[in-house]
Amino acid sequence: MPDHAMTTAPTISRVAIIGGGPAGLMAAEVLSQGGVLVDVYDAMPSVGRKFLLAGKGGMNITHSEPYVDFVGRYGARQDAVAQWLAQFDAPAVRAWIHALGVDTFVGSSGRVFPTAMKAAPLLRAWLHRLREAGVQFHMRHRWLGWDGAALRFATPDGQRSVEADAVILALGGGSWARLGSDGAWVPLLQEKSVAVAPLQPSNCGFDTDWSAHFSERHAGEPLTTVAISWKDAQGVLQKRQGQFVVTATGVEGSLIYALSATLRDQIGAHGSTTIWLDLLPDLSAERVLDEVTRPRGARSMSSHLQSRLGIKGVKSGLLRECLTAAQFADTDSLASALKMLPLVLRRARPIDEAISSAGGVRFDAIDPASAMLRALPGVFVAGEMIDWEAPTGGYLLTACFASGRAAGRGALDWLLTGRGR
Ligand SMILES: Cc1cc2nc3c(=O)[nH]c(=O)nc-3n(C[C@H](O)[C@H](O)[C@H](O)COP(=O)(O)OP(=O)(O)OC[C@H]3O[C@@H](n4cnc5c(N)ncnc54)[C@H](O)[C@@H]3O)c2cc1C
Repeated sequence: MPDHAMTTAPTISRVAIIGGGPAGLMAAEVLSQGGVLVDVYDAMPSVGRKFLLAGKGGMNITHSEPYVDFVGRYGARQDAVAQWLAQFDAPAVRAWIHALGVDTFVGSSGRVFPTAMKAAPLLRAWLHRLREAGVQFHMRHRWLGWDGAALRFATPDGQRSVEADAVILALGGGSWARLGSDGAWVPLLQEKSVAVAPLQPSNCGFDTDWSAHFSERHAGEPLTTVAISWKDAQGVLQKRQGQFVVTATGVEGSLIYALSATLRDQIGAHGSTTIWLDLLPDLSAERVLDEVTRPRGARSMSSHLQSRLGIKGVKSGLLRECLTAAQFADTDSLASALKMLPLVLRRARPIDEAISSAGGVRFDAIDPASAMLRALPGVFVAGEMIDWEAPTGGYLLTACFASGRAAGRGALDWLLTGRGR
């Protein structure tokens, strides 16, 4: 791996990094190690707000699976993301965290977490190291675009123009706007002829047509033993076991998030999509039919299903919600619905609720070797604002770190070779 700490750029070089999330901070690290003066600007009163939120539910920072599986999580963009990962992959992320004095462990799913399960100690140690390296932080600086060659910011003291030898944009995607990443940068880049794919929700929930009765009764209830079948992009039926939660308007949770890119695209193409729930994933269809058709005497079908198959609560409610009375009364239909209950999803939840966003600066607008925008020499991009997506599992943060490094190195090389002058 080339070490830019060995060859320093002239100290007069000054780089403005806009966006202090994981991608921007990683670019700051590379550039400050390269001897460049680094200024980080962020619209919020403090940096790393989404990173800290990601740490609240137990920060999943990367994944321990083999590289070929890991890179495959980036789907259609895996070749582009592989270029970033070539410089900073999952083991490198772990080594980097350890060097900040934070231990990690591998969970039973292969996901990697900081031992304390929090982001705050890691962010604190990282910011301390960056400040020691001379990185200057300018909070409450909202980037508004360019004023000639200068960057224009709204600050509490009015507008300010800033000149820099190179610029790194690490502005995040379009979800959780209250944490800073609001996607307001999209028209600013489009005005400069940078191609941007529309921002869309990723790792998101979906709306369905619950009746008021079902929604009031079951919103918030988890399905912990369940599998979902869905049709992939080629129309082939796939199946996956996991967990999800019924919401007031539909479904959300890890199993739904894992399928969200496909489901969102299918809704985009066809107006809705269908998934099929297996409410008894550990039992064969034959066994389920056998239990359903067993004599039940005077017992109602609902209590028969509860005693023979453990179907109660939200699972029982789903059968009532999704089947007609005639289907529920017919043992063959009922047995097949227990293994393959169709659920129509109408729309993805709004992007602001999503864990991440798809879309962003298109890869063909970026020079792959340097992460520099083809239309804007000296302006580099990093992180979730680029057009890739990945499921949860540490893949988002790993790619943000790695692309921040790629942009930092790209800017450093550009300055070192004098192209910035
Ligand atoms: C609830 C939740 C849980 C998550 N959990 C995980 C997880 O466990 N593992 C995982 O890998 N990922 C997780 N993620 C995703 C991960 O946090 C993001 O992918 C990551 O933070 C994106 O990094 P980034 O640096 O590209 O952008 P961001 O972290 O969004 O940072 C962008 C920064 O740019 C600033 N900014 C934006 N516009 C402007 C402007 N005009 N002027 C100045 N500043 C601006 C923002 O204030 C912000 O500080 C989670 C996300 C959420 C919402």
